[in-house]
Amino acid sequence: MAVPKTAEVVLARTVGDHTRLLELEIAEPLGFLGGQYMIIDSGLVASNGKTIKRAYSLISSDDDQRRVQLAVQHIPNGPGSDYIHGLEPGAKVSFSGPWGKFYLREDTPGSTLVFSTDTGVTAALGLIQSMRFFPLLDETMFIWLRPSVDYFLPEEYVRGLIPAECCNVRIGTIPATNHDARLPAVRTVLRQILFGPALTRAFVSGDGAVNVALLDDLVSAGVPVSNENVESFFNMPKKSA
Ligand SMILES: Cc1cc2nc3c(=O)[nH]c(=O)nc-3n(C[C@H](O)[C@H](O)[C@H](O)COP(=O)(O)OP(=O)(O)OC[C@H]3O[C@@H](n4cnc5c(N)ncnc54)[C@H](O)[C@@H]3O)c2cc1C
Repeated sequence: MAVPKTAEVVLARTVGDHTRLLELEIAEPLGFLGGQYMIIDSGLVASNGKTIKRAYSLISSDDDQRRVQLAVQHIPNGPGSDYIHGLEPGAKVSFSGPWGKFYLREDTPGSTLVFSTDTGVTAALGLIQSMRFFPLLDETMFIWLRPSVDYFLPEEYVRGLIPAECCNVRIGTIPATNHDARLPAVRTVLRQILFGPALTRAFVSGDGAVNVALLDDLVSAGVPVSNENVESFFNMPKKSA
């Protein structure tokens, strides 16, 4: 049962044309692990009578449990992201969480892949900045693929959040969401990685349609990975997949 909590917006700024960065202050430590998300209750009610609540991954490090950050893309006609984009400093936000299983559970040394597409980069950034991830950073490869260079967050901003110990960073572009060429393009990138050193673990976040394909390829290649290492933000895979 979700316990409603309240946070105050202490910083809010718009980046590019479509992204809102928020810093929230929470009275009690949140108790999250890097990679997890919160569910924000907009207080709005949809025409079907359901309250509009949306999940947002924490983009800041779990070493600060009282001031956390979110990055939210504006989705055209999207009531949840519209609500977030209207928030200004001083606003009170109702939320529940932390939620999710997308975090590091074991730290056996070895090569780690953190692979994100689209807005899924927020979960990847939360994960890679987490305190428990630190010993793995020098053997971690961080990949972010998105439809264009001006999509969501500037490359410099994302690079600035990746800890310096992680030197293997690749940020690139892929065809747009739901384009036929998207899956083959992403799979080609993964295939190149799988030619390299054996992976001890992998995390995948973002477009659910991409995630299903990548999880399949990782399992086929013998990488120890399960649904818990995958976070889908949209194009949700069917529960049985
Ligand atoms: C675990 C989790 C974490 C998330 N973290 C973030 C985050 O950190 N930042 C963020 O911006 N969003 C994040 N999302 C997506 C977010 O929860 C909402 O789906 C999004 O803000 C759209 O809500 P809306 O009410 O504005 O639009 P809706 O009317 O709910 O959405 C319209 C459609 O857009 C789809 N959609 C959502 N995001 C995208 C996208 N990036 N590209 C294409 N289609 C999309 C939705 O699935 C839906 O089909 C996350 C989702 C999940 C499940």
